[in-house]
Amino acid sequence: MIPSAFQYVRASSVDDALARLAGSADAAVLAGGHSLIPAMKLRLNDPSVLVDISRLDELRGISVSGSSLVVGALTTHRSVETSPDVKARCRVLSDVAAGIGDPQVRNLGTIGGSLAHADPAADYPAIVLALDATIAVRGPAGSRNIKATDFFRGLFETALESGELITEVAFPVMGPGEGASYAKFANPASKYAVVGVAAWVALDDQGACTDARVGVTGATSQPHRARDVEARLRGARLDGASIAAAAEGFASADSMLSDLGGSSEYRAHLCSVMARRAIAAAAADASS
Ligand code: FAD
Repeated sequence: MIPSAFQYVRASSVDDALARLAGSADAAVLAGGHSLIPAMKLRLNDPSVLVDISRLDELRGISVSGSSLVVGALTTHRSVETSPDVKARCRVLSDVAAGIGDPQVRNLGTIGGSLAHADPAADYPAIVLALDATIAVRGPAGSRNIKATDFFRGLFETALESGELITEVAFPVMGPGEGASYAKFANPASKYAVVGVAAWVALDDQGACTDARVGVTGATSQPHRARDVEARLRGARLDGASIAAAAEGFASADSMLSDLGGSSEYRAHLCSVMARRAIAAAAADASS
């Protein structure tokens, strides 16, 4: 449980962090350290240089820019949970943050760290998928935006290139007739998702669903959109029967993870249950 020797540097700015990362083939960024430090202690991650970005205020904070709610990469889960801007414009994000880990984890863990780490059981991936968020990154080749649907590539794998930093995450502000919710079956010890489902729906004046996005985490090796469920929701009036029909049996046990937290069959069952709950709550939110 002792990491390999490494060099520690504290970045003085984003530019400085990028230069430090470019200077070493196996440097790692340190944000809240809640995933990286345990991985280093287990020697699952062995960076020769640790670039500490945790004091870079330019990467921290929440703002509203046009129709986007912009969350800096270093913003802690606790700051997301308690932000009046988040509660007013994207309540579901506050709810997701409030359910992460415990107070210690929420006080140090960051949204950028959570997304970059891409733990298959993390909560934010489901909601960035359901809300169609955009992840802004900077690296040696400049800045670029990555849509959430293109970001997650596999188990702990993302679209981040070597030397790239997440700088912020932009969420579309929720408009009238839109609603979102997140339902998680949590591991009782860590609170990581055994299965978590985030749903976003848009309803017309008659209560029919004009669009829907459903993000799933915990179930498979990478977070993903449940496209079949989304297709079944579009055009339907969202009541108990239509929601249950849309959520029923969409996850196949063959593709599910299986571990101490739950077998693949149990996870497939949980996918339907969590989807039903999340969609029903999102529909209620959209109607309120
Ligand atoms: P770090 O550990 O510092 O970094 C993680 C990885 O991301 C590293 O590879 C690092 O190099 C990289 N990285 C960090 N920031 C950036 C950036 N800006 N750009 C590019 N790469 C970056 N999460 C949940 O979702 N739900 C839970 O219920 C939950 N429970 C937890 C319980 C415990 C006991 C612990 C220890 C963690 C739990 N977590 C949970 C994870 C936690 O939420 C952290 O957010 C997560 O571990 C990573 O965030 P961090 O800021 O600590 O990142």
